[in-house]
Amino acid sequence: MVTAMTADVPAARQIAEAVADPELPMLTLADLGILRDVTSENGHIVVTITPTYSGCPALREIARDLQFRLSQAGFAGAAVRTQIAPAWTSDWITAEGRRKLHAAGIAPPGAAPARTPARGPVPLNLTTAPRDRVACPRCGSLDTVQTAAFGATACKALLRCRTCHEPFEYVKEF
Ligand SMILES: [Zn+2]
Repeated sequence: MVTAMTADVPAARQIAEAVADPELPMLTLADLGILRDVTSENGHIVVTITPTYSGCPALREIARDLQFRLSQAGFAGAAVRTQIAPAWTSDWITAEGRRKLHAAGIAPPGAAPARTPARGPVPLNLTTAPRDRVACPRCGSLDTVQTAAFGATACKALLRCRTCHEPFEYVKEF
């Protein structure tokens, strides 16, 4: 198990992967694609994550949750580091994550807009309407319209399906 000088990195990674995202609680950090690395330094676990977008208020909550769950499992003094480059893109949400979003009635993001690398800060425009038609997660209709640029969190928009008339959330691509 965990000794003073060598931490069980695979076990710690399993715990870190399973931590839920506070904004999209049906997704784990692994589903969301924000877990960069789990390593051991001087017997302490170090978890590196990439925040989903600049200034994401969920980041502190994720770090707290990671430290709590790791300490519960015997990994005392775990550190959480953030790595902001390369910037997270919604393309990193795994196929399993997209399946879970859909199952929760949330439309997964489409392909992220192309980025030009190495040109300084990445401009993020969370207010733009989806570039393509978003399929209704309930009936699959493409006849949908955005009703609010922001859902419960800044990374989501609200849409309404004109076929089944149900409102639904949509994770923006960026
Ligand atoms: Zn529908």
